[in-house]
Amino acid sequence: MKVPFLDLRAINRELTVELNGVFAKCLDSGHYILGGQLQGFEQAFARYCGAREAVGVGTGLDALTLALRALGVGPGGEVIVPGNTFIATWLAVSAVGAVPIPVDVDYGTGLLDLDLVPAVITARTQAIIPVHLYGQMVDMPRLAAIAGAHGLALVEDAAQAHGATWEGNGPGQWSGAAAFSFYPGKNLGALGDGGAVVVQDALLASRLRRLRNYGSEVKYQHEELGTNSRLDELQAALLRVKLRHLDTHNLTRRMVADTYLRELADLPGLELPITAVEAAPSWHLFVVKSQRRDELQTFLAERGVDTLIHYPCPPHRQPAYASSGLAEARLTVSELLASRILSLPIGPHLVSEQIEHVCHCVREFHER
Ligand SMILES: *Cc1c(COP(=O)(O)O)cnc(C)c1O
Repeated sequence: MKVPFLDLRAINRELTVELNGVFAKCLDSGHYILGGQLQGFEQAFARYCGAREAVGVGTGLDALTLALRALGVGPGGEVIVPGNTFIATWLAVSAVGAVPIPVDVDYGTGLLDLDLVPAVITARTQAIIPVHLYGQMVDMPRLAAIAGAHGLALVEDAAQAHGATWEGNGPGQWSGAAAFSFYPGKNLGALGDGGAVVVQDALLASRLRRLRNYGSEVKYQHEELGTNSRLDELQAALLRVKLRHLDTHNLTRRMVADTYLRELADLPGLELPITAVEAAPSWHLFVVKSQRRDELQTFLAERGVDTLIHYPCPPHRQPAYASSGLAEARLTVSELLASRILSLPIGPHLVSEQIEHVCHCVREFHER
């Protein structure tokens, strides 16, 4: 049996009629940038997030970068980031001319270790980017208290956390801005690149709208050095369809996660993901830990089960940051995780026989 890690074709095929319908509508509209589809999606996504406004942009990386810029983060500043994340979190900080200051993560959850945050705050610190990695939210009330006490901006990296909550509230409720990605493989994925920043402040929203559109509100009048990063009409229209199915898709993910948690409990040497009682994850990824990770991955691959590693090399060890001096950062847990983590297949593309097959193979590996 084959168990693909992800099958976007299968996921989107279920929505063929609806997606074809909006494609035809967009094609016929003759209006492809900054129109009614974008406005409609922004309103629907803001409502979904319980936020005042959502601003659609070109990518998740742009959502992070523009959120930092709109909040005044820039050259000379420092931004606290987790050691265990996708490199985009760090690249956004570098893109605005600030310096990423890595903080290690909690071994159980893989999330920013809040105990370590206060010690790295300096006079240059401008912001903190918590990453709701794998779909589990960081303890935002606690982090917001730390940020508030030091007058720091908070930008959430919610690229993996569409629909995730902490004490019933999602990304964007405790921060200046939450950045989402609609990269095709995310819980809410476009058929191309896309992103959005979700904010509670109307002024911040208009600043973001200006920044994404050449620094301009009125055509050919440019208030600042903006960029071109707009979520296009077609992607916005497709995302409006997909947003209607997000909760169903997330529910399927949770059912897969619950099955794994139940069926793979108590296997010697296998560590399952830890979830805080306050958290309801979106289960973007299901990440287990094993000291025999490479062996386990090969064993599963031989039985048709695709797995991936998120992420095999932390940002501070990447050649891109080699000259920054950050390579020497002491991020013991992040590095340990990189050697032990393995992401099992999860998502709405899986049928129950495939989930059973994964459980069977993982059990077989540990009970041999
Ligand atoms: C996907 C992702 C991003 C970047 O999103 P893009 O749309 O690919 O630019 C940023 N942070 C995290 C944690 C991600 O998973």
